[in-house]
Amino acid sequence: MAELNTLANRPPSSLALLEEMERQYKDLPMEAIIKQDILRQGIHFRPESFQGVGAYKAKDYFIFSFDHIPLAEMKDGIDTKAPEEIKISGGHFQLLPTVISTRNNPLSPYEMRSKEGKPTLYLGETEIGRAEYPPIPDWYRHRTQSGKLPGEIAPVIEWGYLIYLTVFRNCQYFGKDEECAYCDINHNYRQQKGAGRPYTGVKDVEDILEVLSWINAEDQIAKVYTITGGSVLTNLKKKSEVDFYLQYPEAIERQFPKRWMGKLVAQAFEKEDCQRFKDAGIQIYHPNYEVWDKALFEKICPGKASWIGYDRWIRRVVESAEVFGPEHVIPNFVGGVELSEPYGFKTVAEAIQSTKQGLDFFMSKGIVPRFTAWCPEPYTTLGQQAGPPLVYFCELLRAWKETFELYKLPTPPGYGEPGPGKAVFSVSAFMDVIGYSGRN
Ligand code: SF4
Repeated sequence: MAELNTLANRPPSSLALLEEMERQYKDLPMEAIIKQDILRQGIHFRPESFQGVGAYKAKDYFIFSFDHIPLAEMKDGIDTKAPEEIKISGGHFQLLPTVISTRNNPLSPYEMRSKEGKPTLYLGETEIGRAEYPPIPDWYRHRTQSGKLPGEIAPVIEWGYLIYLTVFRNCQYFGKDEECAYCDINHNYRQQKGAGRPYTGVKDVEDILEVLSWINAEDQIAKVYTITGGSVLTNLKKKSEVDFYLQYPEAIERQFPKRWMGKLVAQAFEKEDCQRFKDAGIQIYHPNYEVWDKALFEKICPGKASWIGYDRWIRRVVESAEVFGPEHVIPNFVGGVELSEPYGFKTVAEAIQSTKQGLDFFMSKGIVPRFTAWCPEPYTTLGQQAGPPLVYFCELLRAWKETFELYKLPTPPGYGEPGPGKAVFSVSAFMDVIGYSGRN
């Protein structure tokens, strides 16, 4: 297996594979199956697919690279022209509009070409769907008084629904003994700076408030903001981790009380600290546990394991539900990383069995984990591995949906409308499967 585990040897995609999954997973919408396959493989944009499409929002590199190759190796202007997301519809499977995050990969079997002057996604010679690129919000035309671009300070993703505030673009878990093995936050920061792009390491509260004032005045699409960034182990700008992150929602909610739903993606904090965020106006808490298996957590998240520890992390996630309410605690895990080499499970069945245990543990308590599809980014400790086959993601979606339905849980708040044709969450298909009643 070791010699096969490279980007070039990723388990292939084909029309036959998609049709096989369509037959095997009738409980999953094709929109979700194809979305996961495109996330798994990335997209190869041909230069003509950028032409004649008018203005659209390109990738803002809002936290990680989410690319399969380094920025410096991208050709044909892909590094600046690839759209943040695509929305595909129609095609061979008559897809409802499906929003998918862009992960650049020139080796992907999914190619964005141009057909009759419109970007169109192909798998081989099969048309998968006509594509739209996201609109540029009007307020992107402004500059802050400090000269910063709105897309750098407060970019939107999920087709404009989510304002993504990575307030600290590095992580103090540093180097391969501490960084999470799938995470390229520090590497992405370096490659963005290396490319000469404006890329603010620690964002000023004032810059954020200024951009939010334009959004407040001009925008009706964004409904949610996320405060996030790397972990702070000692202090940052003379503040503890909690105090550093707390200053942002405090300022935002003071100036724009409840204008948007506030979310926090951060480490797992003790209840007293969670309460401070709740009091500041944060409504949704994402204390991401990344991978359920304890031994894998210790290998894959070595910094979190040694500074906080698996048992304490899980306890804190559970206890945070007493502060926010269980339906407002939505911890993320990295779908597929439990199959990574060298430490991961050797089979899809073992991986799903473990991950499903975690889903059951949390969902039985009313806490709904969500996942992002692992993107094997080149500079991470795990590097450019092949990643899981499509059948893994179908099994994962099935396990997630079955457990979610078993406990009759409400749709996670802060993600927009669920279901095929409506979901805007773009880095996995968990929102696309909610409410789907299956096909014959
Ligand atoms: S804690 Fe892990 S996942 Fe989060 S930013 Fe740091 S290295 Fe990345």
